[in-house]
Amino acid sequence: MQDNYRHQGMRKRLIAEIERKGIHHPKVLEVMSKIPRHFFMDRGFEDWAYKDVAFPIGEEQTISQPYTVAYQTQLLEIQPKDRILEIGTGSGYQAAVLFDMGAKVYTIERQEKLFVRTEALLKRLGYGRIRTFLGDGFAGLQRFAPFDKILLTAAPEGIPGALLDQLDNNGILVTPIGETGKTQQMVRVTKVNGSFEMEKLDYFQFVPMLKGVQR
Ligand code: SAH
Repeated sequence: MQDNYRHQGMRKRLIAEIERKGIHHPKVLEVMSKIPRHFFMDRGFEDWAYKDVAFPIGEEQTISQPYTVAYQTQLLEIQPKDRILEIGTGSGYQAAVLFDMGAKVYTIERQEKLFVRTEALLKRLGYGRIRTFLGDGFAGLQRFAPFDKILLTAAPEGIPGALLDQLDNNGILVTPIGETGKTQQMVRVTKVNGSFEMEKLDYFQFVPMLKGVQR
């Protein structure tokens, strides 16, 4: 896989576009301007990688829109060495962004085919230190809890209790909430002295968070 001048040029324009749309976090913009998003999509769709749209990655799933990736990443207020749990590995692109932000990343995917493919891709791209898990995100990852940050990239109808339990004090959880097929509202939950403060933010469209592992 190569990242040539044409890709780099398209990526530069994409980053300028998401900045115009309101992303201002310098490190988020810097990290996203360096990662070749087309590496996370099927060959032949390289131009699509640099449009600000979600895109199919097979198994009825999508790689999130770049603006959405930037928006969620910005909300997490990532500090170096943060332990982050991502629900919905998908293409692996968001996990790579979190890793390059300086975090220790744990990511769970429920679809076995996608899990196997993306785990191999992440290794090949030099992201072998991202810990990948096949499992149901509704259960979180109890044996590695607590997490400083938890990010959901598929939408549940309500915030899964297990994930709130696995959030450390002063931790931040970011998730879209809402019914399948409609738009979902982004919420940010902060754990303060054992209780939760919730901010309701903008509306987005995500794939639904589904129960169980699909083999
Ligand atoms: N973060 C991904 C976005 C993928 S879309 C990326 O950057 O490409 C959301 C993903 O969440 C899909 O791959 C879907 O299979 C997965 N998903 C849905 N419900 C899940 C669950 N309960 N546990 C883990 N993954 C889930």
